[in-house]
Amino acid sequence: MLIILSLRLDLGFGKFVATSDGEEITRPRFFKILQRKLELLQRRLRNKQKGSNNRHKLNQKIARLHQRISDTRKDWHFKLAHHLCDGAGMIFVEDINFVSWARGMLSSSSADAGFGQFVNILQWVCWKSDTYFGKVDKNGTSQTCPNCGAHTGKKELEVRIHNCPECGYFTTRDVAAAQEVRNRGIKAVGQIVSENVCGLRTTGSITRDALVGGERSRKLAS
Ligand SMILES: [Zn+2]
Repeated sequence: MLIILSLRLDLGFGKFVATSDGEEITRPRFFKILQRKLELLQRRLRNKQKGSNNRHKLNQKIARLHQRISDTRKDWHFKLAHHLCDGAGMIFVEDINFVSWARGMLSSSSADAGFGQFVNILQWVCWKSDTYFGKVDKNGTSQTCPNCGAHTGKKELEVRIHNCPECGYFTTRDVAAAQEVRNRGIKAVGQIVSENVCGLRTTGSITRDALVGGERSRKLAS
């Protein structure tokens, strides 16, 4: 059986990713601890005289900590990507422009979560493990019921659940959105298949990334 997993990444409240399987993964606490350590050192830097030996030493310490944070983050991203790819035949993510998205974020901890890097790593791990990787249109994924397709309207950020007035489907907000991503992904793949079979051009909302995903991963690997 083909296991299809889809992800929702645009999360708040310390959550990093929600899957259509109902799994919700929070950001590990050690990031916060390291971040605090970094802030402490940067504050200490202000009291050091410019050009002094102590300042130089502290700067080196800060640089090392920066490196450690980015290594730790990358390592965790790889682990998470492998965890998600394990047993999955297809993975779909929302097509988010993470650069402008991070710029617009007020919370530094969210921008710091490195979603863009994670998606690149996930794409690479998918390619390595023969998992299909596709991106789907992100618009309104939290406004549609994944069970019956009813338009449920915009949810305010504090609304953390999905409770469909049409069919009564009940789950968390992020899992519902992840499931809607899955529905769109399946639909998009169905269009690709019929395009290949019939030689017709698709007219749906499929992003071409879904098709060239493998190619891109290859570039990343070389
Ligand atoms: Zn419904």
